[in-house]
This record gives sequence, structure tokens and C-alpha cells, in this order.
Amino acid sequence: MQTLTIPVTDFQQNCTLLWDEETMEGAVVDPGGDMDLILNAVEAKGVKLVKILLTHGHLDHVGATEDLAAQLGIPIEGPHSDERSLIASLPQQCVMFGFPPVKTFTPDRWLTQGDTVSFGNQTLEVLHCPGHTQGHVVFFHRADKLALVGDVLFSGSIGRTDLPGGNHGQLLASIRNRLWPLGDDVTFIPGHGPRSTFGVERKYNPFVGERTVV
Ligand SMILES: [Zn+2]
Ligand SMILES: [Zn+2]
Repeated sequence: MQTLTIPVTDFQQNCTLLWDEETMEGAVVDPGGDMDLILNAVEAKGVKLVKILLTHGHLDHVGATEDLAAQLGIPIEGPHSDERSLIASLPQQCVMFGFPPVKTFTPDRWLTQGDTVSFGNQTLEVLHCPGHTQGHVVFFHRADKLALVGDVLFSGSIGRTDLPGGNHGQLLASIRNRLWPLGDDVTFIPGHGPRSTFGVERKYNPFVGERTVV
């Protein structure tokens, strides 16, 4: 599976284009804004975009979803249905974060723990990882040992839990019980900032690493 990360919005959110090099079908994960940047990348790589995948309902992750879905006529999959009220609150999130208004939407498919999502010959597993928000999901490509974790985990940090739906203990449990078992050699693309591996974070992350005294 090929990947290209495209930082979007003032929050430099890592919108990521995934595609299958055989069929050239692809999916875009978390199109938070800057739709032209995303469409330019899709065209430059020659990808046929077939779906939108969402990790969670924060504006910088979903802002361009409805426009993109409407323009390309493609379905929206994810996040978990516990994210329903957060997605419905997109107009208020725009005010709160000083963004121009964006259109809200209803996903074509809500995802839950154990589901899979596919495009071309590629399949990703879905993990429900609440804590940053209640309906947050992570996408895991087992063959490539690659995870797209949204705002659950970052290189050297973890997602904030002071926003509506946040729960610090639940976030730590999601990371320890759902992410770490996937393996130390898994590389992850976080919602913001550089890639890292679960092994490095499991050891050294100051918020959830095993060398941290809690
Ligand atoms: Zn977030
Ligand atoms: Zn974010």
C-alpha cells in the first residue's frame, strides 16, 4: 500500500492518501480542509479515490468531508457511532476554532471494533480507541505494519482529553490495550507531527511510556 501525507488546515493535520498500486484505487483519511491540496495530490499520483475514511469528528480532521464526498460521489466510512453528536456539532466547532463554516454530514457507514475497510486489494482493520473523543477509531494495515491513529497517540505525546468527550484514563487504556498489542514494529501516522513506532512510544513516550512513573 502506498501512502502520502498532506498536512491540511492551520492545525497541520496529517490528511493521508492511501492507495493500492495494482488497481490505483485509494482512500483519503481525515480530509480536514484544503480540498484543493488533497485533489491536486490525488491527481498527481493518478489515484482513483473511492472512499473517505474518518478517525474522529474534530473539525481539522473532517472539515472537507462533505464537499469531497459530494464532488466525487464517494462514501464516508467512520468514525464510530459514538462520534455522532461531535459531528453534529461541526458548526459550533467552526466558531470555537475560528474556522469558516463547513457542512456537516452523516457517514454512510459507522465503524466499530473488529470491522474492516477496503479499497482496491487493500484492507485495513478498525480499532475503537476512545479517550480523545468517544467515537475515535484507528485504522491498521497488518501486512505493512502501519497504523493511522488520528489524535490518540503522537510522537512523544498523546491526544488531549480536555475537550468534550475526552477521558484521560480511557485514552491510556486504548493505547495500552488496543495499540501496543499490535507490535513494537508497527509504524504509525499520527494526526499531527512526525511518524513514529509503537515500540519507541511504548518505551519513551512521557505520557504513556513504560519508563514513565505513573
Ligand atoms: Zn482531535
Ligand atoms: Zn487533530
